[in-house]
Amino acid sequence: MLQFYNSLTRKKEPFVPIEDGKVKLYTCGPTVYDTAHIGNFRTFLFEDFLKRVLLARGFDVLHVMNITDVDDKTIKKTVEEGKSLSEVTDFYTELFNKDLNTLKILPADHYPAATDHVDGMIEMIETLITKGHAYQTEDGSVFFKIESFGDYGALTNINMAEMQQSDRVDSDEYGLDNPQDFALWKSYKEEDGDVAWDSPWGKGRPGWHIECSVMSMAFLGDHFDIHCGGVDNKFPHHENEIAQSVCAVDTPFVNMWLHSEFLMVDGGKMSKSLGNFYCISDLINKGFTPEEIRYIMLSGHYRTKINFTLDKQHEAKASIQRIQSLKDRLLDITKIAADEYPDEKSNFDTALEDDLDAPNALAVFFDWVRTTNVALDKDELSEDAIAKGLNFIAYFDDIFGVLSDSVAIPQDIMDLVSERELARQNKDWAKSDELRHIIGSKGWIVKDTPDGSKLTSK
Ligand code: AMP
Ligand code: ZN
Repeated sequence: MLQFYNSLTRKKEPFVPIEDGKVKLYTCGPTVYDTAHIGNFRTFLFEDFLKRVLLARGFDVLHVMNITDVDDKTIKKTVEEGKSLSEVTDFYTELFNKDLNTLKILPADHYPAATDHVDGMIEMIETLITKGHAYQTEDGSVFFKIESFGDYGALTNINMAEMQQSDRVDSDEYGLDNPQDFALWKSYKEEDGDVAWDSPWGKGRPGWHIECSVMSMAFLGDHFDIHCGGVDNKFPHHENEIAQSVCAVDTPFVNMWLHSEFLMVDGGKMSKSLGNFYCISDLINKGFTPEEIRYIMLSGHYRTKINFTLDKQHEAKASIQRIQSLKDRLLDITKIAADEYPDEKSNFDTALEDDLDAPNALAVFFDWVRTTNVALDKDELSEDAIAKGLNFIAYFDDIFGVLSDSVAIPQDIMDLVSERELARQNKDWAKSDELRHIIGSKGWIVKDTPDGSKLTSK
């Protein structure tokens, strides 16, 4: 039984999709004012993992990830750099897409940009005002009235009455009914430069929270299955999303809220001054492969913190190598395919079904790798078991995505290898060495094994 920890109910619950066989999934996307860092990608990789597990179980997944291309941070950057909003956001959106690709993150079905949905946001805000859930302030901003939603605070277990008591003193300064009320629409200020839209309340721009309510509903409908983000998105972002969405349409909004824990670096927060603020390209330049980055991020449970250090690369490399070399050994022996798996696959699946327990799934998998290697050493593995094993590795990698794609060997290299094989049979060692050298100069390493020549790309 597939079950996930639902942040809303604070317990593990069986996953039952609203529509049989289909999963409607929304994941909060990047704010495109800067290059996304590896912390952001921990969350995006967790979401990729969740999606791959759902796909492996045969669900049809409709996935939407928004692009936050207007908010306080994007506007600040635009003004600082003297550029237009789209010049800034297009640039960082493209970088983000490149990183998604590098990390083999399965593409979403839709990547809506907030600036393409402002009309929908205005419409939802109007509905909220009409229903008495929102009000306009003197400067032409619109705020959500949290008092009007009885369930406010349910996601984060916040007691609003207590919060209101302690913050009441500040209330007047903001001209709000309640200091916790949040902005749905922000009236234009000079520091916004030329970023503004016309609205029934004057010139301004949407608040961040309303963006995700409108974009998720536009593609997934008023009520959908799973909404994800990092833990820092829980409050206020997701709490506010729930409030405004439920109040706007009077239906439940999302069935399951899944949040991934933070990625720490060197035991703390990443910081530019400490020199440990990494983006994906920084790690690639330091010699990490995308697969090693995936392994580091996915080998911890998504609900526990991961502490990233550069030396984690060694462990990731060694683990991936263990899988790859078993795959090579199995491929050496047989090419028979079967649509069957070793018994261990069911324990592997059980671990993943239990709230995506990756550490446990990996323990099961590596245990199988070890026993399979032992059986191979003793020549005790049947052709059938080998074929099942290869299927298991392929299944494993559909979910974890940590093995590099096998590279097709060009024909001229194959010809050189055959020629060298012949030279070796004729004990012409000089020629064999010369051919090894030529093959090497073309980017391939040839290794001699008891089963013949093996090729790997450099
Ligand atoms: P942002 O671009 O700031 O909107 O963040 C994009 C996603 O990254 C959100 O889901 C955040 O919760 C998540 N996030 C930000 N920092 C971290 C971190 N250090 N570890 C894990 N997730 C993070
Ligand atoms: Zn969001």
